[in-house]
Amino acid sequence: MPTIRDFTGKVVLITGSSAGIGATTAIEFSRSGAQVVITGRKAVNVTQVANECHKVSPKGLKALEVVADVTKEDDCRRLVDTTIKSFGKLDILVNNAGYGAITSIYNKDILDTYDSVMATNLRSVVYLTHLCAPHLEKTRGNIVNISSVAGLKPYEQMAIYCMSKVALDMFAKCLALELGPKGIRVNTVNPAAVRTNFGTAMGLSQQQYDDLLVDRAQSYPLGRVGDSIDIANAVLFLASDESSFVTGANLLSDGGSLNAAATTGVFKK
Ligand code: NDP
Repeated sequence: MPTIRDFTGKVVLITGSSAGIGATTAIEFSRSGAQVVITGRKAVNVTQVANECHKVSPKGLKALEVVADVTKEDDCRRLVDTTIKSFGKLDILVNNAGYGAITSIYNKDILDTYDSVMATNLRSVVYLTHLCAPHLEKTRGNIVNISSVAGLKPYEQMAIYCMSKVALDMFAKCLALELGPKGIRVNTVNPAAVRTNFGTAMGLSQQQYDDLLVDRAQSYPLGRVGDSIDIANAVLFLASDESSFVTGANLLSDGGSLNAAATTGVFKK
């Protein structure tokens, strides 16, 4: 059986791989021998990550670059078609592209936020999974979705983001039932705070985001927030044969924060 770090001969499509968790995940797959597809909306970032992948690939494999917006159906079709045209198959789909939104129920733009968050974090995953399932069936491949602890516990002013992630978790569990008999596993990684562009992408200033991460780190049992590599390692585990009996699972990679949040008091003698 190949080891967890050996993805030689595997073709991996990672959405949102032009930055943050997706970029690190793509680089780790490349380092482990995989042929990767780098995608995002910003061409410069896509090329930069593709170059990094090329550098670390043991056989010097070039990453495929596809500039695409996952909220656009045409772009999703082009992304999958180009992957299959270039490599002839797909082994692993990582649905990672997503963003957070801070909003109040009093916000007059609440439905715009709802449509936008759901289009990116959920609808795109449904459509890409629909497009990729026939290809994954041929390779008996697997899917890893990047959800969040926000799919498992509520955050004030983050209702729509939390809803998108809880739905993503349930989508994976249902699909694990439907696709299991086809040999396709479907799993989810649920990170807590990870230092990426996530905070600034949802409108926080760099200072506000840094402060938030310091605050979060203090409340996490492991005393730190996550790095992208923490999440990439969890993804590679779920995508590997080491987890061949795991499907429909939520793998928490959260520094212990979910359990800490569930603790309501401390017993003292
Ligand atoms: P980043 O903002 O650093 O990266 C997001 C990536 O998604 C970028 O590559 C971005 O590229 C891409 N992306 C965003 N929107 C679209 C779109 N419409 N079409 C195509 N690509 C898109 O965030 P993270 O790496 O932190 O986030 C990755 C995932 O991890 C998300 O699903 C997020 O919800 C989840 N997560 C993150 C946590 C964190 O604390 N960082 C915690 C828990 C979960 P571009 O802008 O070029 O399109």
